Amino acid sequence: MKKGLFDIADEMRQSSARHILAAAAAPLFFVAITVIYFFIMSAYVKDGIINSGELSCVRSANRVDNYLMNGKVSVNNTAYTIDNMLQTDRPASEILAYMTVQTDCLINTVDQNFTGIYGYIKGEYLDGAGWTPDADYVPTERPWYKAAVEMKGELALVEPYLDAQTHTVMMTLARLLSDGKSVVALDISLDTVQKMTEEIASLTPDTFSMIIADSGIVVAHSQKDEIGRNYLTEKGTIGSAIAEHLFSGSENHFEIAYAGQQYIVYNVPVDNNWQSVSVTGAGNALAPLKILFAVTIIVVAVTVAIAGSVFMNIIRKSVAEEKLNLQLSTIADIYNTVHDLDIINDTFSEISSKDMIVSEFASKSSDNMCERFYEITDRLTNEMSKSAVREFIDLDTIETRLAETNTITLEFLNHRNMWFRARFIVSARTAAGKLSHVIFTTELIDKEKRSRDKLLYLSETDRMTGVSNRGSGENKIRELMNNGESGMFMLLDVDKFKSINDNYGHAVGDKVLMSIAYSMKRTFRSVDVVMRLGGDEFAAYMPGVTDAEMGRKMTARLFDCIDKINIPELNGRRIAVSAGAAFYLKDDRYPFEELYKHADSCTYISKKHEGNHVAFYGIDNAD
Ligand code: GH3
Ligand code: MG
Repeated sequence: MKKGLFDIADEMRQSSARHILAAAAAPLFFVAITVIYFFIMSAYVKDGIINSGELSCVRSANRVDNYLMNGKVSVNNTAYTIDNMLQTDRPASEILAYMTVQTDCLINTVDQNFTGIYGYIKGEYLDGAGWTPDADYVPTERPWYKAAVEMKGELALVEPYLDAQTHTVMMTLARLLSDGKSVVALDISLDTVQKMTEEIASLTPDTFSMIIADSGIVVAHSQKDEIGRNYLTEKGTIGSAIAEHLFSGSENHFEIAYAGQQYIVYNVPVDNNWQSVSVTGAGNALAPLKILFAVTIIVVAVTVAIAGSVFMNIIRKSVAEEKLNLQLSTIADIYNTVHDLDIINDTFSEISSKDMIVSEFASKSSDNMCERFYEITDRLTNEMSKSAVREFIDLDTIETRLAETNTITLEFLNHRNMWFRARFIVSARTAAGKLSHVIFTTELIDKEKRSRDKLLYLSETDRMTGVSNRGSGENKIRELMNNGESGMFMLLDVDKFKSINDNYGHAVGDKVLMSIAYSMKRTFRSVDVVMRLGGDEFAAYMPGVTDAEMGRKMTARLFDCIDKINIPELNGRRIAVSAGAAFYLKDDRYPFEELYKHADSCTYISKKHEGNHVAFYGIDNAD
């Protein structure tokens, strides 16, 4: 199957559709990738935020645990020693001395925030720090004593309380001794724990940290004012909102809303039923996520915009291509063959072809273009047109012939005697202006050519005699003169023609005119212009006849021919003509009218002579 322009248009349409699909898929693909990327990054960033929050909490909880551990160990050790002293019945003064030494030791070597060992020993309040209680001070009524009794020998962590004077939270560690009555206790300032929370909160912006006892009391808080408050008993504060979740849920992080703000809360339990809590403003914590989201939206929007404009462009282009293809195929339909000749690479390929000329042109493409092109064209051309066609398709000269124009044509007869028009159209030139591609077309013009030729023939020919009429004959002579074709111009007038008409009738007169025209055609060559000027006047231009000798030979031959005209109706009457001739020579440059005048003046001379006579301008008009 041969491929016509319609097939090519089809292929282009299909490829446009593929491009459109690709252009539509591209933004979808980008959107999908961006959304996936966004979700992965969101999860990753959120995990990171939560992990770092939790890490702060865990670190805080561990530090508090470690800190309290010192106190616990100190109380346990002291309790163990005093218990031994009680069992060996050591006096109270000795026990007090031990407590004093131990207090000193703790404050100086373990922690300055340990305020001292004290206790209720064998019904007497003893204080290692040397504090003397007021008279109304009843040790057994104190929370530390009660808590220790309640814990029955286990270490009791007594509910922290706010020291109004120092505004620090104090807590007491107490332990009941083996006599079931005596208790050893240690007061610890939670100032250190407080500093820890402040330090941890300062590491992350928009964050506050705290330690809350399970009673709801704020043991430590990075915002000092909050210390000592009970979040479980108060209402409507951010603390109460946190505490509500903290003691009811089991997750280690949750979100709360307070005063129109979102907070992420992380919590890790501390050893003694406290909670280490870190609170971060969600707006701040999720800021990287928000930036990521904004960037994602922008990237998607820009991608979609770019892809959209590319997509629209492709659609516009494909519509334009389709339109162009249809137009091209309509145009190509006129032609019998359309071939693309690649002048630079010496190849040709078929664009479209009907079988009107021959199937050989339908071969898809060929190397050695010139050779093959000449060979095929030559085979398909009528003998009469061969030399013209060869000259026309000569690719060695095509560059020059197409230098000033983008198309040239030639009408030729093909091997089946049909008229065709061959055409070269420049389709591409190199940057330097050299031909790179030309389209070669052939087009059947037989009908058109023949009717055009007929009209031309009719318009140029004298109906009765078949020689050129005045207009076309003059034009041909003018052209020859313009081209510098020197030659002889001759005017000829029938002698006494009126009398022929009068004596033998108009029809016989016509026969005479036809016979004279025939004599002229017979005498002169095909390159000579022969015409009837009108009435009984004729003219001829003979290129190459440039002197009187040659001229006389030609006219003698013509006169001989005219003399032999034998029209039966004339009953042997001979026809005679008077002729005037003038030469247009190599260097002459004057218009046809002047040449005509020269010859005409000689006709007048000839008329004076009986029988056929010619007078030459410049020779015979001298006498
Ligand atoms: P002269 O020898 O001086 O040339 O005289 P003549 O009789 O030939 O006179 P002239 O050349 O002036 O006359 C031309 C005549 O030709 C006049 C006209 O009647 C006649 N004629 C013109 N056209 C035709 C034509 O188509 N057919 C015929 N039969 N006669 C024509
Ligand atoms: Mg005459």
